[in-house]
Amino acid sequence: MKLNVVSRILDANERLAEQNRELFRKHNVFVVNIMSSPGAGKTTLIEKTIRALNGKIKAGVIEGDIQGTADAERIGSLGVPVVQINTGGACHLDANMIKEALPGIPLADIDLLIIENVGNLVCPAEFNVGEHAKVMLLSIAEGDDKPLKYPLMFQESKALVINKTDLKPYLDVSVDKIRKDSLSLNPSLEIFEVSARNSDGISGWMDWLSGHIHKDS
Ligand code: MG
Ligand code: ZN
Repeated sequence: MKLNVVSRILDANERLAEQNRELFRKHNVFVVNIMSSPGAGKTTLIEKTIRALNGKIKAGVIEGDIQGTADAERIGSLGVPVVQINTGGACHLDANMIKEALPGIPLADIDLLIIENVGNLVCPAEFNVGEHAKVMLLSIAEGDDKPLKYPLMFQESKALVINKTDLKPYLDVSVDKIRKDSLSLNPSLEIFEVSARNSDGISGWMDWLSGHIHKDS
């Protein structure tokens, strides 16, 4: 019985995700859904991404957090449209939350919508919100065992951004193992190594993102 209930929730979510996707298609907006554990650097990556876009590609951002507006304030200070969703306890974003946030985003004026999911390595991967690509962000400080422990996050993503590479000298972590295990779960995963903090390696990520805008949307 429990299984029936769960699958009905996911069916309803999928219908709403398709409505969102239709809206994105109509406005030719490429949508990425960035997922990671708390503290991996999602907001910093988004800040650096928006700075690197330099206004040439117009972006909007939806921030997902259980509580608070700190991330939306950081992004809003860059002058891009941003909506903060407070899930009030829910540990992931779903398609209905995105649908309700969309009136706050001027879709006709943007090329790229970045959704920052709630920090969590489990259920964000289970919910489509209408995005064109899920992107997994893993900081090397979390350890190289994460791909095999949380496989769905890596399987559902089109790109993996490995962050905080500047911390490598201080950590017993194998970036090669992260790469190898991630690719064993998802051979078509695009992998980028960055330090969002100082923008090292960000150009590969920016090329991937720019390459999809106005193509996949
Ligand atoms: Mg954040
Ligand atoms: Zn959840």
